Amino acid sequence: FRAHMMDCPLMISDILVHAAKCHGGQEIVTRLPETGEIHRETYAEAHTRTKQLANALRKKLKIREGDRVATIAWNSHRHFELYYGISGMGAVVHTVNPRLDPKQIVWMLEHAQAKAVFFDKQFAPIVDGISKMCKSVKNWVLMTDKSHADAVKTKCKTYEELIAEQSSDFDWPVFDEYTAAGLCYTSGTTGDPKGVLYSHRSNVLHAMACSASDVIGVGARGTLLPVVPMFHVNAWGIPYAAPMNGAKLVMPGAQMDGKSIHELIEGEKVNYVAGVPTVWLGLLNYLEQEGKRIDSIERVLIGGSALPEALLRAYEDKYDVVMQQGWGMTEMSPLGTVNASLPKHDALDREEQIKIKLKQGRLVFGVGMRIVDDEGKELPWDGKSSGHVQVRGPWIASAYYRGAGADSFTEDGWFRTGDVAYLDGDGYMTITDRSKDVIKTGGEWISSIDLENAAMGHPDVAMAAAVGMPHPKWQERPLLVVQPKPGITPDAGSILDYLRGQVPKWWVPDAVEFIDEMPIGATGKILKTKLREIYKDYEFP
Ligand code: ADP
Repeated sequence: FRAHMMDCPLMISDILVHAAKCHGGQEIVTRLPETGEIHRETYAEAHTRTKQLANALRKKLKIREGDRVATIAWNSHRHFELYYGISGMGAVVHTVNPRLDPKQIVWMLEHAQAKAVFFDKQFAPIVDGISKMCKSVKNWVLMTDKSHADAVKTKCKTYEELIAEQSSDFDWPVFDEYTAAGLCYTSGTTGDPKGVLYSHRSNVLHAMACSASDVIGVGARGTLLPVVPMFHVNAWGIPYAAPMNGAKLVMPGAQMDGKSIHELIEGEKVNYVAGVPTVWLGLLNYLEQEGKRIDSIERVLIGGSALPEALLRAYEDKYDVVMQQGWGMTEMSPLGTVNASLPKHDALDREEQIKIKLKQGRLVFGVGMRIVDDEGKELPWDGKSSGHVQVRGPWIASAYYRGAGADSFTEDGWFRTGDVAYLDGDGYMTITDRSKDVIKTGGEWISSIDLENAAMGHPDVAMAAAVGMPHPKWQERPLLVVQPKPGITPDAGSILDYLRGQVPKWWVPDAVEFIDEMPIGATGKILKTKLREIYKDYEFP
């Protein structure tokens, strides 16, 4: 018995059309990657320029529906225009992480058969190094005006020249909402990178889900600063959610140090920021050193890796902001859970509230989840049964691009996240590990994340990573690798003593090793694969 509602495909271009019509005067503020100057344009102006860009893509660069067009770029108004112009005309925005090894960038561009690449001035050396190796790329475009054209040796056009000569008449085509709109590769910390292809439908639905008040909760009074890069899973959906709701968007360009971020927060009265823990550590150090405040900020969305307790306490207790932890991944567009409190938590004491805030959060509507044991049996949400997290939903990948990684998907249509977690009766999820990082000792699991967070509470520890090392009796025992704070001569005994008060006795690592610099991957996370390599012949004392 069918209803009579319209069949309107969800199109990404409609978000920008709506923003231009209903929030036309709202701004996108950018710290220009090429000069560090502040640039302003409205959503109405962005829409006009995006239509010029779409004409240029079609007429000048000969981009056709379904073609992949890559970006190697910081967060900026031009990158925003590319998000909409490329997908709006029916092509696919392939965001490339510039922190990857150039060899890997070539691999990805070739794998994606990218037709054109748009890049910021800072990445000119990367482009000059790889352009000859990228056979599929017909055009390179430097994302600035011609006054910076000599920054690059590779033959290319500049963005401003490219669009200036184009008309701003462009009718956004309407097509199947399942059409690919974006492509983002996982960082490849385990094997070759795998591509995730987002659709118009999935990005629009994800942005709508982000808009809910317990998720990002964004409206026309909001000013959002995504410090999370647009090459890292669509900057967590913010470039779609902000214009959809008429919020002001502040783009940090190339400068993500504490001072620059603080300047933008103060100058633009930002009330919502999003990024990985390392960014918030940097800002915190700056605030502490300079005695500065961030009074306009109401909420901080923090994700990508676990929220360290010390960071939570510092921001909430001293700077009066709400720290909201989120969890997700490239394959999930990325949002899966966000931590928001329930009315009943108001009555709890602060320590109890903190325990809840350190959980990864509750499911965003639209994401289905189950946790299963090694045999695939579903486990209860009882606050203790830890298992493998599987998810499904309209913005979760059903396969990888060009058929890689088929074993990540179950026969009955779920995606294996590779994370291990338990859920409580209110649906709060606690990640205890990634499947490949779990430390299995005498048949029991130790959470490497909990161990690391506990160790980070020791005053001498700058960074900590727990890895399982072979052990003759227990199969595996934890080794704690610590990067000490600068200028400190750390003492392993004192760190272990400290941990004895924080974690179950059998979790306490068998040894601590010190490292000058923790190996960090392209998305800012500790590379455990690298640590396992470094300590592969390690024997416990
Ligand atoms: P990569 O696999 O390259 O790190 P992603 O950026 O997609 O790529 O990372 C997703 C992973 O990051 C998740 O599977 C999870 O292990 C980890 N992660 C993300 N958010 C959190 C969080 N709040 N707490 C703990 N781990 C997290």
